Amino acid sequence: MKVTRTITETRAALAGLPRPLGLVPTMGALHRGHMTLVHAARASCVTTAASLFVNPTQFAPHEDFSAYPRDEERDLLLLAEAGVAVVFAPDAAEVYPPGFSTEIAVRGVADHFEGASRPQFFGGVALAVTKLLGVFQPDRAFFGQKDAQQLAVVRRLVLDLNLPVEIVAVPTMRESDGLAMSSRNAYLSAAERVVAPGLYRALCAGSAAARRPGGTVRAAVAAATETLLAPSDPTGGERDGDLPRFTVDYLAAVDADTFARTDELGPRTLLVAAARLGGTRLLDNIPLAPSAYPEADATA
Ligand code: AMP
Repeated sequence: MKVTRTITETRAALAGLPRPLGLVPTMGALHRGHMTLVHAARASCVTTAASLFVNPTQFAPHEDFSAYPRDEERDLLLLAEAGVAVVFAPDAAEVYPPGFSTEIAVRGVADHFEGASRPQFFGGVALAVTKLLGVFQPDRAFFGQKDAQQLAVVRRLVLDLNLPVEIVAVPTMRESDGLAMSSRNAYLSAAERVVAPGLYRALCAGSAAARRPGGTVRAAVAAATETLLAPSDPTGGERDGDLPRFTVDYLAAVDADTFARTDELGPRTLLVAAARLGGTRLLDNIPLAPSAYPEADATA
């Protein structure tokens, strides 16, 4: 496996490698969720490449850019074991050299939810993804369904700019208790970790309510909200009063492509949620119609 630090080195490393080429963009601190993206790329492409880049433009000044978990040595071992051919691990100055002046704003799909609470976020994501697609020129790029709005923004960007790449969505990889794997789960205290799977339980309650005869979006949102805010000790034990509670940022039904709120239970309806436990913000989603995503949700 070749590890590159510059765009020139990356292009040289890719030249002559057999296609199709699959790209897995990441910010490192890899977990099994990231690795499912790598496995999906390996399964459908002859050559698989990845990037490890904690992208400064998607963090606001008060966010966790400098504290974001980093373990490049371990990440490189995992990627090598998984059969990745080229890993681009640049520093910020390589991606954004002095004089860099371009911004990308994806309107509409990026305006609500994550975009509302983190106004710089999707502009930064769009910029980094566009740069990486330009550097690698992959045939396919792999993104997690876990970050459903990011996926929708990237699809819109690729469509609007006629970027010649296929965007592939990979189902969410979860811990055995349902918690969606995330690099930020490392920030959870022991007590918060006990409560954290409650977010997925709430989404499942919403999905079950939608599937009941006569089920509606309103019933789904109500069931999920009630479950999320209910006392959270999964054992129903006496410690419940001591356990942390979620603070809900949003919990809503949206169209998976536009991220506009919807009252319709359609094939592209997603129940999306962001909730905080202490200082950690957890993000998750579930389809509200069984056919919203043809792939089954992967459970560890
Ligand atoms: P990040 O390093 O957090 O930017 O994530 C890199 C890619 O991995 C993104 O496309 C994420 O959506 C994806 N990803 C993160 N967590 C998971 C997960 N639990 N299951 C599947 N994909 C994931």
